[in-house]
Amino acid sequence: MTTFSFHHVRIPGHDSLHDLRIQDGRIIQLAPSLSASPQSYDAQGGLLLPPLSDPHLHLDAVLTAGDPEPNRSGTLIEGIERWNQRKKYLTEEDVMVRAREAIRWHIAHGVLYIRSHVDVSDDSLTALRALLRLRQELPPGVILQLVAFPQDGIFCRPNGPELMEEALKLGADVVGGIPHYEWTREDGIKDIQLAFDLAGKYHRSIDIHCDETDDDHSRFLETMAKLTLDNQWAGRVTASHTTAMASYNEAYAFKLMRMLKEAGVAIIANPLDNIVLQGRFDQYPKRRGMTRVKELLRSGICVGAGHDSIVDPWYPWGTGNPLFVASMLAHIAQMTGADELDAVLSTVTTNAAQIMTISSYPPTLSVHEGQPANFVIYPVADKVDLIRLMPLPRWVVAAGQILAHTEPQTTQLAWSPDQFEPVTFHSPRFL
Ligand SMILES: [Zn+2]
Repeated sequence: MTTFSFHHVRIPGHDSLHDLRIQDGRIIQLAPSLSASPQSYDAQGGLLLPPLSDPHLHLDAVLTAGDPEPNRSGTLIEGIERWNQRKKYLTEEDVMVRAREAIRWHIAHGVLYIRSHVDVSDDSLTALRALLRLRQELPPGVILQLVAFPQDGIFCRPNGPELMEEALKLGADVVGGIPHYEWTREDGIKDIQLAFDLAGKYHRSIDIHCDETDDDHSRFLETMAKLTLDNQWAGRVTASHTTAMASYNEAYAFKLMRMLKEAGVAIIANPLDNIVLQGRFDQYPKRRGMTRVKELLRSGICVGAGHDSIVDPWYPWGTGNPLFVASMLAHIAQMTGADELDAVLSTVTTNAAQIMTISSYPPTLSVHEGQPANFVIYPVADKVDLIRLMPLPRWVVAAGQILAHTEPQTTQLAWSPDQFEPVTFHSPRFL
């Protein structure tokens, strides 16, 4: 029975600083002042939030940028070519080593819930086998969902449908798809239909890479919405990327958003990849290429945001920090308005957890007594500084255990000779 406590914590929804005591994996006490536990930590006014989530990541490809060749153009298509080169010599050990490292980076950034797409276009399903093995060794409280993702298309190859089904039998949790990448519109529709058939047969959720293109004629999302309605699958269907929506005319986008709301389809934006991969055929003005995040959220549609790539053939940078994802999303969607910050943060917290159906996740960014002890404490006082500074959490607590600890970075600056003073970067109101 481990008992420990945090003191002087700032919790959304409470005016004063609070203390909290953790025991047997739960928050057993939450009050303005508690006696110290055998292990006590002073949060010094740091902000406590539920854990972060990354609902869209490609763990099989992480940390492969430049191997065997870099993506020199930076385009989506060259990324797929480079990945096809790399895929030829994947081994389970190779995937496990890289994916484990990326998960460690995520946990250090406060992420306890990850949904990873796994390429199931190879006959041996090496990457899926590796990630299923890796899942066995995750620390308590960390959840990894795996999506059977047909990177090369399902109907571009003779055994595509069989590989998808085999992946589900092996243990993939979610059915994927890539309709816009099939060679014909007809095959794209079949790609989505197959996902619904398999989801029904194996009782799985659906998360399809849908309309990840600047082609405004790519309209597979409407088919996803219709099949979700027909099958009464509200809340279990997610469309990822949907970048073509940024190029649709207003009348069609309006109709589509009504359908999505009615059907209960969630959307995942991937701002890091899409701001660099989309608009590549454009002269000026260049499109931003991210789906309509602001308008979808305003329409009441659940929108999450994923890191998508980390140092891979499609996106050469990134550290596994969802706050960087949320910051990029806010910039591209022009969501820097004073009242829009909670909506921005919801894409990597509450909405992302809802998409992943994390049942223990609180509905708001607050915590309560009796709740499972899964949370992060940041070395900042409010959400503005959180998105501005994008810090590592000072503590990451999962299933009642401290899983990661980072001492806040401090810089000493000598304005006058030898008179070193700290630079905090905090907002002026906290100076
Ligand atoms: Zn993706």
